[in-house]
Amino acid sequence: MPHLNRRQFLQASAALGASALLPACTKMTSWGTPITVYLPGMAAGHSLRGNTQAITPSSERRVKVAILGSGAAGLFAAWRLAKSGFTDFALVEGPELGGNCANGEFNTATGSSIHYPRGAHYLPLPSMESTHIRELLFDMGVIEANPYSERPTFDERVLIHSPEDRLFINGQWQDGVVPQHGIPATEIAEQQRFFKYIEKLKHTQGNDGRRLFCVPLALSSQDPTWRALDQMSFAQWLTRNHYTALSLLWYLDYACRDDYGINLAQTSAWAGLHYFSSRGGQAEHIEKAHDGAVLTWPDGLNPLIRHMGATLQPSQRLAGLATRVMDNGKTVSVDVLNIQNKSATRLIADHVICAMPLHVAAHIVEGMSDLGFDLQQHGAHHAPWQVSNFLIDRFPTEAEPHPLAWDNVVYGSPSLGFVNSTHQLIRTAKPEYSVFTAYHAYAGEDPKLVRQRLERATGDKLYQIAVRDLDSAYGWGNPLKARQYVKQVEITLRGHAMSSPTVGFLNNVGIQNLIQQNSRIQFAHSDLSGLSIFEEAAWWGDVAARRLL
Ligand SMILES: Cc1cc2nc3c(=O)[nH]c(=O)nc-3n(C[C@H](O)[C@H](O)[C@H](O)COP(=O)(O)OP(=O)(O)OC[C@H]3O[C@@H](n4cnc5c(N)ncnc54)[C@H](O)[C@@H]3O)c2cc1C
Repeated sequence: MPHLNRRQFLQASAALGASALLPACTKMTSWGTPITVYLPGMAAGHSLRGNTQAITPSSERRVKVAILGSGAAGLFAAWRLAKSGFTDFALVEGPELGGNCANGEFNTATGSSIHYPRGAHYLPLPSMESTHIRELLFDMGVIEANPYSERPTFDERVLIHSPEDRLFINGQWQDGVVPQHGIPATEIAEQQRFFKYIEKLKHTQGNDGRRLFCVPLALSSQDPTWRALDQMSFAQWLTRNHYTALSLLWYLDYACRDDYGINLAQTSAWAGLHYFSSRGGQAEHIEKAHDGAVLTWPDGLNPLIRHMGATLQPSQRLAGLATRVMDNGKTVSVDVLNIQNKSATRLIADHVICAMPLHVAAHIVEGMSDLGFDLQQHGAHHAPWQVSNFLIDRFPTEAEPHPLAWDNVVYGSPSLGFVNSTHQLIRTAKPEYSVFTAYHAYAGEDPKLVRQRLERATGDKLYQIAVRDLDSAYGWGNPLKARQYVKQVEITLRGHAMSSPTVGFLNNVGIQNLIQQNSRIQFAHSDLSGLSIFEEAAWWGDVAARRLL
């Protein structure tokens, strides 16, 4: 591949931030704990704004389809094309292979390595409508039989093992995350009223005969009476329906932060009800997997990414960033900068599947506003997240009778608890090492201000957020105590982690325009759903690939 000359390369990489593909840095806490801080895509994203003209590609490659982005959407599109026997495509990986489904790896003192999630960590049992997910899981062998039946047979190794989750409440752990311990009977009755209503919603159809709430979201009923729920917040809907129990409100707020990165007052009531009513997937052996159980792996959803990636030939993968996308009428040209080998290539494609976040695409796809999408007007609320991984070489002592669960949540906490990465591996003896992954969504704040704050945050500040729930559980806010267990700490800051379904999100005209337009550039990203879950990202990858096949 012809290379850029030195002057061209320096010009381009200065414009794009030479650190784009190596965005980790180390921050020290005031007590001397090093924290590796990882900022995927941040440097690349910032530098792409208005700087793409600096690059002159020195080689060209012709492909029928260029896929831009290696997250769930981009890789699902590639997997679909490859499975259909379509081989003339190239996938540009972008700043982070796997995107929000990326994983990380700690090397331990004994020479072993251990993987953990840097983003997504579970997949609910797929709904009846999620045939694309069932197909992928069957292809992986995770669904062993009857993939499209009501109760497929799942590989037991990835069906969540017991104890699945627990809640630290009123000074002790309880089973499950819905608050029960010490909660008055009147509040429990209100919780039951809410869940009974949800059961009803799961089986209710709109005036078009579709289920009200589906995953994928695009298959949900279009009944305007129900979609009008999008005009109020979930908090308003709860007040109107006389839900006042603090324990229920906390739980629902936690659920919105956990899935959407925003709080009850920010979440569209339609999205709030969608969260609870849309899935209902089931597995063959009810004794092994209760309805609504989840699938998980030690490094979260990364194995799905790896499986889809493995269907690609090396020549179909291109490391680097798309820096400029131009529809020339008959073809689309895509400039790709590879900072590591100091080269830039121009792909000439018949079609492009643009599987990067829309706020990035808006800076590099020329004429995106002609397609009806204007970032200022149609850009969604993007919640910032912090994913903190702690390598431990011994497990903290747990008070009986509530052993460490897969997901461990603290009542009243503004954070989202922590997940034990080796949960699925535990059989008789505990493993030598494990990773606790603590999640925090910066809900209820202006995302722009949070992003600015995070870029400047000290090691102490980041650690404080990272350790909050581990402090409630084990007192790890005290560094001396934490040091007895924790050997390494890594924090991933995702400034634009996910599109959040704020009030009115269903009526984003810009996004509808991108879905409906029929140019040579197809968009495929969870942003098109307005909420961010693996199934939605994969759905848009599938839709885009099928349109081209
Ligand atoms: C902390 C966290 C936890 C989550 N937990 C779950 C969970 O448990 N279950 C679940 O279902 N979902 C979860 N999600 C959501 C889920 O991860 C996402 O919905 C899904 O991974 C999004 O995939 P995507 O392909 O739409 O986008 P992304 O993951 O955003 O992928 C975008 C891709 O575009 C690439 N890219 C960016 N710029 C360029 C460029 N210039 N050129 C080329 N490529 C580019 C990136 O490298 C990346 O590969 C979570 C998300 C976060 C942030």
